[in-house]
Amino acid sequence: MKIGFYPGSFDPITLGHLDIITRGAKLFDKLYIAISINPNKKTLFTTEERKELVKEAIKGIDNIEVITSDLLTVEHCKLVGASHILRGLRAVTDYDYEFQMTNFNHQISSDIDTVFLMTQGKYSFLSSSSVRELAHFGGDVTPFVPENVKLAIDAKIRKS
Ligand code: ADP
Repeated sequence: MKIGFYPGSFDPITLGHLDIITRGAKLFDKLYIAISINPNKKTLFTTEERKELVKEAIKGIDNIEVITSDLLTVEHCKLVGASHILRGLRAVTDYDYEFQMTNFNHQISSDIDTVFLMTQGKYSFLSSSSVRELAHFGGDVTPFVPENVKLAIDAKIRKS
């Protein structure tokens, strides 16, 4: 069984992530989506909220399991039997970081490889941080995120 592991902050999940997930799920028998737990990073949504938003957004794709992670990515891959890390690539600006991480992970564990899916052009400018910023300034995030995320953002912004 081929198992993939897609790690990220997903704060929040966007249509760009969802595109990578939908396509990635076809490459593996099972795909884990691992929401990073980063206590030192201020996030808009808590880890549990991010996890629930991802779970709701991927309903209907049944070879996916959404988990949280505070482990080193390669260690977590080994724990769940994943042979590949999945990542998305947008513009060349992603390249440096991803190249560094891939080589670093490879140094730690050479039996786990990273595969990349190139984003669709229409999502190449899209990031969770731009969605958060747009929301903060009262903009409409509808074109960029799944419906459940839009509702969660509206509720969060109303409360703040
Ligand atoms: P991280 O903090 O690990 O970068 P993100 O949630 O920002 O977490 O991103 C997780 C993965 O999803 C990364 O590989 C990133 O390049 C990819 N990604 C983010 N936005 C998009 C997008 N619009 N299109 C394709 N891939 C994306």
